[in-house]
Amino acid sequence: MKKANHFRERFRNFRAWREQPRQVAPMSQEEHECLNCHDHYIGRFCPRCGQAATTGRFSIKVAAENFADAYGMGDRGMFRTMLNLILRPGYMILDYLRGMRVSYCGPFKMFFLLFAISTFVTHGLNVKGQRFDKDSQSVTTTQQLDEKLAAEKSVIEETDGINAKDNEHTVSERAIVIFDKILSGIEYFEKRFPSINMLFLLMFVSGFLYLFFRHCPKIPDLRYPEFFMALVYTDNMYTIYSIVFDFFCLTKLSSLAIFLTLIPLKQMSGYSWLRTTLKAVAAFLIMFALLFLLVFLVVFGLYMT
Ligand SMILES: [Zn+2]
Repeated sequence: MKKANHFRERFRNFRAWREQPRQVAPMSQEEHECLNCHDHYIGRFCPRCGQAATTGRFSIKVAAENFADAYGMGDRGMFRTMLNLILRPGYMILDYLRGMRVSYCGPFKMFFLLFAISTFVTHGLNVKGQRFDKDSQSVTTTQQLDEKLAAEKSVIEETDGINAKDNEHTVSERAIVIFDKILSGIEYFEKRFPSINMLFLLMFVSGFLYLFFRHCPKIPDLRYPEFFMALVYTDNMYTIYSIVFDFFCLTKLSSLAIFLTLIPLKQMSGYSWLRTTLKAVAAFLIMFALLFLLVFLVVFGLYMT
């Protein structure tokens, strides 16, 4: 009984800690001499040139950091940001949106880095050495897609001639080919630029979610760019989970991790679990309904012409 109470109290403390903004360590009052411009100052960086007070002789650690810096990974905020995205994703996003920019690794930098890691893991860098990326499931390569697009183009050109006779059969055939062409085009873009494709997808999805979260209790005047940044972080959190699950080849858990994205949405908006879930579901329903309507209109339009 006592033990249970103890655990409950620790959990309460953890929850209270999560909601607090990050505490930045107090500054030391030690005086430094800048090794670059020889100014004397108190603080972590030289106010004249910006060189860090910790600058000294090279050690293996400093040299390694210097190397990592060339690839944009020297930032120590990277590890902290990942940990925060696991322990308090929504509250970290609030910190970031409210101005704590230096404390965390920026959302886009993190997005591209995690994307690269996740590509390695799905291409075989995991416990079983398995490949479960999209390329291994469907055999189409970008070259095959190129050929497919060229073939479709010639079909459209051929049917253009027949179309003059106003044959109804060729019109529906033409519609199917044009549709297939649009889908192949999207597939082609996705294969060539998967990360950019993901960002476009996020932009599209966030537009619908924004309609339901723009007047949330935590940020009643939420702007769309702020919400988009929040969703890039949310996607980063999802990628961290899927990298871990994929690494241990738990692909089912990896797909279920998508539901974890409700955690940051709930924490950053201040809505209840029920409201957050209902709002997310409503946004997706509207999105699919609109997509459906769009497809219907395109088909309808093609039949009418
Ligand atoms: Zn200086």
